[in-house]
Amino acid sequence: MTVLVVTSDRFAAHDTGRWHPERAARLTATAAALRDPEFEGALRVIEPRPATDAELMLVHSAEHVGRIRVLANSGGGSIDADTPLVAASLPAALAAAGSGLSAIETLSAQPAGPPSPELDTAFCVVRPPGHHATATTAMGFCLFNNVAVSAAALAARGERVLIADFDAHHGNGTQDIFYGRDDVMMVSWHEFPQYPGSGRIEEMGAGRGLGTTLNIPLPSGATVEHYLASLEGPVGAAIEAFAPTWVLISAGYDGHRRDPLCGLALTDADFGALTGALLGWSTPGRRMLFLEGGYDLEALRDSLRATLSTITDAGLPPVDRPSWGGPGAEVIASLDAARRRLDLPA
Ligand SMILES: [Zn+2]
Repeated sequence: MTVLVVTSDRFAAHDTGRWHPERAARLTATAAALRDPEFEGALRVIEPRPATDAELMLVHSAEHVGRIRVLANSGGGSIDADTPLVAASLPAALAAAGSGLSAIETLSAQPAGPPSPELDTAFCVVRPPGHHATATTAMGFCLFNNVAVSAAALAARGERVLIADFDAHHGNGTQDIFYGRDDVMMVSWHEFPQYPGSGRIEEMGAGRGLGTTLNIPLPSGATVEHYLASLEGPVGAAIEAFAPTWVLISAGYDGHRRDPLCGLALTDADFGALTGALLGWSTPGRRMLFLEGGYDLEALRDSLRATLSTITDAGLPPVDRPSWGGPGAEVIASLDAARRRLDLPA
């Protein structure tokens, strides 16, 4: 199986300063994983096109897009204490937001299966990341919401889109953008409490969107056992009932046990297992991953490698064993109970 990798040298020019965890060196780590000889011939790498303002405005306000543009064109500055940008951040952010659009165009150009299309899955290896960017605000290292731009483009042509976000932080921006919609489902597993503070079980969507937002707020030290249990339980039931036609994964690797920003207990092997489980709800040629966080460079490299090994069926041995046990079972039980109270699939 071939993976379409969408990435660009432009991402390295988004200079966040010397001490920032979301730094250009992260791309060196991801490049090391992509260059692994085991993936020789299994990856097709393309350059993204920039997203247009009209595409960005499917999810962002015109004021937000204008503010980023003006700040970058004036030489740069800071949106908040965590989110700096320089002039070169604008082409980087536009290419990051356009990566998923390039992937959709390439994947959609293949004849529909069966047999399975040549390009099985796309992986947008981008920075800046996107999942904290709301309709109106850049925050948490994120300028434009890359995964949301793609989900909105797909939904606009009638697709039903699942966004599965396993970054260790709550994907508040993605949730915010689709909270009232019934054609985009957002599932977020994250450490709680943790930045940005949202992502409680009770946040389940509103109006027509009630039930299409699922949050799994896990305690520090949680292992992959509870991610997989949620997929066998209420999260899996919800996805099954939603019946997505495209699956988009916000793949953040800061849940790795060595990550300096977060306290979850995942290993590289877990990211492979979790990706495999999520892809079980998707159709070949209709699935994409987007790099979000992950701030320990070796953990990022190993976790990306394990993810690619799962997608390409390369069978590479992981560096660490799968995690298991630890706290978190009560969260899955609470989510199940909360959905049953509202008569939602659980
Ligand atoms: Zn994160």
